[in-house]
Amino acid sequence: GPVVRVDGVSKRFDTKSGTVQALEGIRQSIGAGEFVAIVGPSGCGKSTLLRILCGLEEPTEGRIDWGREGQAPRMGVAFQDHRLLPWLSIEQNIMLPRLMQGRASAADIDRALALCKLVGLTGFEKRRPAELSGGMKQRASVARALFTDPELLLLDEPFGALDALTREQITADTERIWTEQGFAALLITHSISEAVHLADRVIVMSARPGRVVAEFKIDLPRPRT
Ligand code: ADP
Ligand code: ADP
Repeated sequence: GPVVRVDGVSKRFDTKSGTVQALEGIRQSIGAGEFVAIVGPSGCGKSTLLRILCGLEEPTEGRIDWGREGQAPRMGVAFQDHRLLPWLSIEQNIMLPRLMQGRASAADIDRALALCKLVGLTGFEKRRPAELSGGMKQRASVARALFTDPELLLLDEPFGALDALTREQITADTERIWTEQGFAALLITHSISEAVHLADRVIVMSARPGRVVAEFKIDLPRPRT
């Protein structure tokens, strides 16, 4: 069954300069293990939808139904601006979900190190974010999103600011990790090629109001493990 069902969700922002209909009548579901990409111009409501999914915004109308008896799945989120804490090491940043609850155990440290390896950051565990390239910081933010072993991974243009080659490498690594780990994913991207490369299904949105205007399944052979 689906990990999440978005049921007729609309979102309006009332501002001094007027009302913005950021989303209108969004009806979508994401299956367990499914990789969905959302593409569309700036302002079509992609980030608003993702923020509603992770609980940072409330819909004005409609609702989010979680698959398992109304309980939200474990989620991980990675953003374009990576949001690593500059005074913590990469390893500590990856363990942040645990550090916020108290002390990290030896098992947590092992997991953070394993995630560093998974995303290609072995050798950089003790470095601070400022010592890493842009691509490496994005890898670290994806590793942190994976720390809680998410059933649903939310990716808000995590590779948008990277150069084309770095982006291609990270896209390939993301596909490998998804194939190995089996989580459902929702990726926001401006890149049709990235969407087509990674996703099982691509949703196209348009702005004013933010609506789904097209949707297509991608049926390419994948290197399933
Ligand atoms: P996208 O991620 O597709 O670029 P957003 O979800 O960020 O689009 O924004 C959708 C629309 O909602 C835009 O017109 C944006 O200006 C507006 N918007 C988003 N957040 C707010 C907010 N907190 N207050 C007012 N307007 C907002
Ligand atoms: P990615 O494809 O992970 O974004 P980059 O293209 O940014 O990688 O960097 C390529 C390689 O250069 C990295 O994998 C790393 O080995 C090395 N590198 C980048 N920045 C640094 C740094 N600050 N210190 C040491 N090595 C680095």
